[in-house]
Amino acid sequence: MINKERELDLFLSLVKIDSESGNERAMCERLQELASEIEGAEIRTEEAGDFYTTNGKNVIVWIKGSLPGEPVLLSSHMDTVVPGNGIRPVVGEDGIVRSSGDTILAADDKAGISEIFEAIRTIKEKGLPHRDIEIIFSVGEEQGLYGAKSIDVSKLHARQGYILDTGGTPGRVITCQPGQYSFTAKIIGKRAHAGNQPEAGVSAIQAMAKAIAEMKLLRVDEITTCNIGSIEAKFPTNIVPDECVIKGEVRSRDKERLDAQERHVYDCLKKAADEAGASLEYEKTVKYLAYKMEDDVPVVKEFLDALKRQGVEPCVEGAGGGSDANVYNQKGMQCIVVATGMRGGHALDEHLYIEEMYKATEILIDVLTH
Ligand SMILES: [Zn+2]
Repeated sequence: MINKERELDLFLSLVKIDSESGNERAMCERLQELASEIEGAEIRTEEAGDFYTTNGKNVIVWIKGSLPGEPVLLSSHMDTVVPGNGIRPVVGEDGIVRSSGDTILAADDKAGISEIFEAIRTIKEKGLPHRDIEIIFSVGEEQGLYGAKSIDVSKLHARQGYILDTGGTPGRVITCQPGQYSFTAKIIGKRAHAGNQPEAGVSAIQAMAKAIAEMKLLRVDEITTCNIGSIEAKFPTNIVPDECVIKGEVRSRDKERLDAQERHVYDCLKKAADEAGASLEYEKTVKYLAYKMEDDVPVVKEFLDALKRQGVEPCVEGAGGGSDANVYNQKGMQCIVVATGMRGGHALDEHLYIEEMYKATEILIDVLTH
């Protein structure tokens, strides 16, 4: 039913537009152009908040439908990770698109964008009755879901929908994602001459080392992880160091366990600082909260029904990372993440199964027209 050649052409053209996070302008403009070709589409843009610096904007599209039922949100992000400039996609004989090896492919998330456009183009071309459709192309997803965070959901029509932004075969549905906190901790000791009078000093490095040694890190339990990604203290060896800073993160699919692990990290730091006679500065940031949706929630059920009609085996599971879905769900919406046919996102060997992109598009059309 879909126009495969048109969809592949669109995908190949979109990945050639540079749009690393912070530099989304060209992509933002192209998406508005493409959306303006859709009959009856109302297009607006929203600036990302002050916390994210970019030359692009979120693009939001509203397409009124004639079928009853809740409006459906479709969303993909327009930014990419690095190295994402000058992408030269290569279409293989094996039906797989790859990058030329020195960049990512940007199927994450331009496969999702191509699927959204081909689904809408097909629906309009064939005159298929469809639900109300709202589309968000977000900026800054890869940097911390910043585009989604700045979206004013009170201005949206849709309350439920699909984030096209995960790897795997069409039919893979993510209904559960972890929440994440990040933390920065600074232990402040006392500076002294390391040779003349070390007993007058309090080593922040030593206190930090003791704190970290007490922490349960990495795989905390089956749904909780914790990692320290950086430790910083740089002094000459003849000075007892009075400052040491770490940055880390905690993730869990369960809010209580997320809180408990974050508390545990804090307690280890506080205890080590107190025992050393040092002080502690500590800051926690809520990156996003976890969500979990059962199969009978309408947004999940409607997608599973479409998979059944399409003869596609569903694979409902949880994921270890966050997505724009976390943000919208935190703001009271009901969104799940669906697979686009890409693999190996964020890596130089990222690739896209072309037939899977087509199948994902057909599933989307099915959801929108029932
Ligand atoms: Zn993505």
